Amino acid sequence: MSWSTPLAERVINLKPSPTLAVDAKAKALKAQGADIVNLSAGEPDFDTPGHIKDAAIKAIRQGFTKYTPVAGIVELRQAIIDKLKRDYHIEYKTDEVVVSTGGKQGLYNCFQAILDPGHEVIIPVPYWVSYPAMVELAGGRPVFLPSEAKNDFDIDMDRLCSLVNNRTRALIINSPSNPTGAVYSSSTLRAIGQMAVEKGIYVITDDIYDEIRFDGKGPENPVSLFEEAREHVIIANGVSKTYAMTGWRIGYLAGPQPVIKAATKIQSQSTSNPNSVAQKAAHAALSGPQECVTDMVKAFRERRDFMVERLNSIPGIRCNVPQGAFYVFPDVSSFLGKSADGFEIKGSLELADYLLEKAKVACVPGIAFGDDRFIRFSYATSKEQIDEGLNRIEAALGNLS
Ligand SMILES: *Cc1c(COP(=O)(O)O)cnc(C)c1O
Repeated sequence: MSWSTPLAERVINLKPSPTLAVDAKAKALKAQGADIVNLSAGEPDFDTPGHIKDAAIKAIRQGFTKYTPVAGIVELRQAIIDKLKRDYHIEYKTDEVVVSTGGKQGLYNCFQAILDPGHEVIIPVPYWVSYPAMVELAGGRPVFLPSEAKNDFDIDMDRLCSLVNNRTRALIINSPSNPTGAVYSSSTLRAIGQMAVEKGIYVITDDIYDEIRFDGKGPENPVSLFEEAREHVIIANGVSKTYAMTGWRIGYLAGPQPVIKAATKIQSQSTSNPNSVAQKAAHAALSGPQECVTDMVKAFRERRDFMVERLNSIPGIRCNVPQGAFYVFPDVSSFLGKSADGFEIKGSLELADYLLEKAKVACVPGIAFGDDRFIRFSYATSKEQIDEGLNRIEAALGNLS
């Protein structure tokens, strides 16, 4: 009998993460000896600060290598509670926080905990690549809310409200944003909190870049601006971006106790506790000195200034000045429809491919984030690499006609 290796429909329809795919292609080309400038990175280029590594080494030496409570060790949850109090002026209890294997798992558990088949989740475009897939894996349906660069990718509240119906379960926001770097204003965040209460839906706030911002303001969230929204807001965050700890895999959720309990239950039947040693490291990150964060943010800011100015000097590119994260998301639509050297630039995917093949610069096409008019460059790399990358990009774009 022939065996057709059947697979579940949910995975057949699932697309692999396009950002990780671009990164893998760039790394493979580099391994083959190609001189690639990688502007596609989705993680800080800095090393994890020494005091954080030391805490992990100490934990290993002390034999802190066994299962921990599923929701994470209490001292880490307390450090998270202290951070949320410090930054958002809101008090969470220990059973309102769950630590997961990266912010990504926290978000995944969250959707699994709140969505039934047919429930809709409103996702502003451009969006982080994993939101639609995570919603679909939980049986939900993504509903997209477009935004415009000329409004700095702000949320159009009227348009948002028009998308809410009795199937709507949640809105997810990400400020500062990956891919745009845009930061929602306090008034937008407050309006979102008010809307959630009024309409009776959840707001999931992906705050993973909350401390990487350049406008001089601290982290903000709908709950810090409209406390009545507390029972509606589910905070997703982690240490990956703020402390250059992507490989350690520690993230968390904070929110209404029933949601956190449900997310913890899912975690208890899937992955159990996040890595014990990494939890100790995350504790050191959140409760230790914060100068490392200030230093990294300062470096990102300098690179942002350099990159935006240089990009806007390239004919045909228009780039906003992002106020957070470590990405720029310039409008490159003026190059679509052009061609050179047998490359036909039909969309952002072809443009990214052209830049990789001809300029040897890796970047992520806007289509991966739901908007084909743009392209994402990361500045989580050295200034020399950014400079070299932009010189190559300018030359390659200049050849298109
Ligand atoms: C990096 C990132 C995450 C989560 O990262 P983890 O490494 O899983 O903690 C979540 N959301 C966005 C928008 C990100 O860019």
